[in-house]
Amino acid sequence: MQIAVLALQGAFIEHEQMLAKLGVSTIELRQKSDLAKSFDGLIIPGGESTVQGKLLRELDMLNDLKARIKNGLPVFGTCAGLILLAKSIQNDERTHLATMNIVAVRNAYGRQLGSFYDECAFEGIGKIPMTFIRAPYIGSVSEGVEILAEYHGNIVAARQGNQLVTSFHPELNDDLSVHQYFVDMVQKTIK
Ligand code: GLN
Repeated sequence: MQIAVLALQGAFIEHEQMLAKLGVSTIELRQKSDLAKSFDGLIIPGGESTVQGKLLRELDMLNDLKARIKNGLPVFGTCAGLILLAKSIQNDERTHLATMNIVAVRNAYGRQLGSFYDECAFEGIGKIPMTFIRAPYIGSVSEGVEILAEYHGNIVAARQGNQLVTSFHPELNDDLSVHQYFVDMVQKTIK
């Protein structure tokens, strides 16, 4: 198994370290030619969704990745990655990959409350650490989306088939369970 990590901007190294701890090898996607490499799943890291979206367009990687996700490539978006996957963004005119039936609310906790940590239940795993950094949440979900975690009534993790998103950063804590959850999703697609 090989998992690609989108490495244009943001916290991609931390995801690679988590996967290394799980014994999964990774490749970095930095330019269009990297898309020719072989990978079974994709992680889109946290960072700045507007910057990542702009780079995906400029580097001509957006449409290729969008088509692969629509074709069933397992994808895990954290924070900005969640925003990139959202079909609709409440406070932004521009969408990006737009493959998941969720409405993302950017900077949903306000700019004042930049970053915070808590523990909260995740469906099928139990209580896990959650680090939020200028985090979005999911304002609403539609067809095919399963809610996996809610924090104080706001949706912070969800899945739609091959697509997994969290508004928090599981790569910034020692707990490997969400990455393991994604690796299990990828494993099921490998024959
Ligand atoms: N606020 C960022 C955005 O809108 C996301 C923050 C993050 O990824 N930590 O893209």
